Amino acid sequence: MTFSDLPPPLLEALSARGYAAPTPVQLAVLDPAARDRDLLVSAQTGSGKTVAFGLAMADQLIEAGQLAAARAPLGLIIAPTRELALQVSRELSWLYERAGARVASCVGGMDPSRERRALAAGAHLVVGTPGRLRDHLERGALDLSHLRVAVLDEADEMLDMGFRDDLEEILDAAPPARRTLLFSATIPKPIAALARTYQRDALRLSTVGEDRGHGDIAYQALAVSPAEIEHAVINLLRFHEAETAMLFCATRDNVRHLHASLVERGFAAVALSGEHSQSERNQALQALRDRRARVCVATDVAARGIDLPTLSLVVHVELPRDAETLQHRSGRTGRAGKKGIAALIVPYPRRRRVEAMLRGARIAAEWIAPPTPETIGARDRERLLETLTRPVELDEEDREIGRRLLAERSPEEIAAALVRAHRVRLPAPEELLGGEARGAPGERRAAEGAAAGPRPGFEGSRWFRINIGRRHNADPRWLLPLLCRRGHVTRGDIGAIRIGGNESQFEIAAGSSARFVKALARAAADDSDGIEIQPIQEGPRPARSEQRRAGPRPAAGDRKPRPPMRRQRS
Ligand code: AMP
Repeated sequence: MTFSDLPPPLLEALSARGYAAPTPVQLAVLDPAARDRDLLVSAQTGSGKTVAFGLAMADQLIEAGQLAAARAPLGLIIAPTRELALQVSRELSWLYERAGARVASCVGGMDPSRERRALAAGAHLVVGTPGRLRDHLERGALDLSHLRVAVLDEADEMLDMGFRDDLEEILDAAPPARRTLLFSATIPKPIAALARTYQRDALRLSTVGEDRGHGDIAYQALAVSPAEIEHAVINLLRFHEAETAMLFCATRDNVRHLHASLVERGFAAVALSGEHSQSERNQALQALRDRRARVCVATDVAARGIDLPTLSLVVHVELPRDAETLQHRSGRTGRAGKKGIAALIVPYPRRRRVEAMLRGARIAAEWIAPPTPETIGARDRERLLETLTRPVELDEEDREIGRRLLAERSPEEIAAALVRAHRVRLPAPEELLGGEARGAPGERRAAEGAAAGPRPGFEGSRWFRINIGRRHNADPRWLLPLLCRRGHVTRGDIGAIRIGGNESQFEIAAGSSARFVKALARAAADDSDGIEIQPIQEGPRPARSEQRRAGPRPAAGDRKPRPPMRRQRS
């Protein structure tokens, strides 16, 4: 099917853009059964939904091939964030440009007096965020009395963000006969209720299943120690060297931390979160668009609506809260037929939960080990050879310098210097302790703990307990790096690790235990991830037979462990 039934100005705009065929959601809204009706559409970002509602509105905006005269706005689109609203405004501007439509945007953080002037000059379409639209409405700058069609984009997000009141006030100001289109990634109860109140006999359309055929996104899952999330992210970035990569964190603090860490290591990275002003956000997006930056660290809300055509890698640094968010974030890549990778960094204790989430969403992810410095080095070599053997245009000055170099150095030295110059720009990959899964250092330790007497160097060692046991998927492979990070010790300072049901016990070499205790106290003061580590009462090291007995020894004042890893740090 093609777009051929559309009014000529829209058809021309689409073909100028190279959009030959409608996406599933566009097909659904253009179906004769959907024409002129209120629609409740579940569609995701990346599905072409913006163009879909742009086309759906054509019946209300264009009469006999001409844009209807507008004394006041005819169409209104409400979106949850500034970025999304501005992006919608850009999409509708090119789509309706040949029809001669004026599109005004009204978004929080922008200059309101300029917006008032644009509204006063007359706009056919108004795109905005709920709070700002409500302000203009209350001050009399926005006249909705002639509105023919209202669109709520990402309605579920707007309700989640607490915009119900604003939305209701805005919709109440529009004529009851208007058409209302509600777009939402999910249709939970509050959305259904909003639809009942503000729509008339809405037709429900869902293309989510079809859109999921983001067949161009390859999902990968990487199980890592919670202490090594950041290193895994760095190695992923270095392995793929994506033109643009988006990293998702759960909180603005974690965005700030990871961004600082990446910049420190030499990555060209920007950050997007609620703590950034509008101009900072604009600068960050501009840097990504003109490739001064290649990595964007963001929270879910701040990244809404961002469309970067060169984005080929999405990393879920912190796990999405549900399958919808997983798909939303991942859908930033693999857009418009391009290929993309969505990688989930999975702390070992969360592996089962993630498997269940992927199963529920019917996503087949490949479980892979984080890239090692060796595999990254091999990829770097291939890329360097590829880059340096590509034909380049040289001018006479380049050749002249080349000749002078050749007079002083051998061709091999010159070529090596060129390679070096490229390599020094690449941030160094990280060694992952837990990555040595097959070396199984932890397993060896666990076995040793249950076998002979004290290991050399562990005479007089101290024992500690941690509230992570088999129930939390405890495994020496990830406990070891976690303990090193938490207690400022090295692998060599940790002796046996015994995994119990609800908790595990481990041994710290005598010479390092004071440092370990001190570092623990500091970590406990500023961490809220639910991990508790306590010394086990002083006394002789448990006898071998006791060690083998399943389960930890109870200690006075032992508290019931809270579930660990409520929040991972990135
Ligand atoms: P959206 O779901 O609105 O965020 O759109 C995702 C991207 O797909 C945007 O860059 C659109 O311009 C693009 N797009 C929309 N419709 C089509 C189409 N029919 N063919 C190709 N690309 C499209």
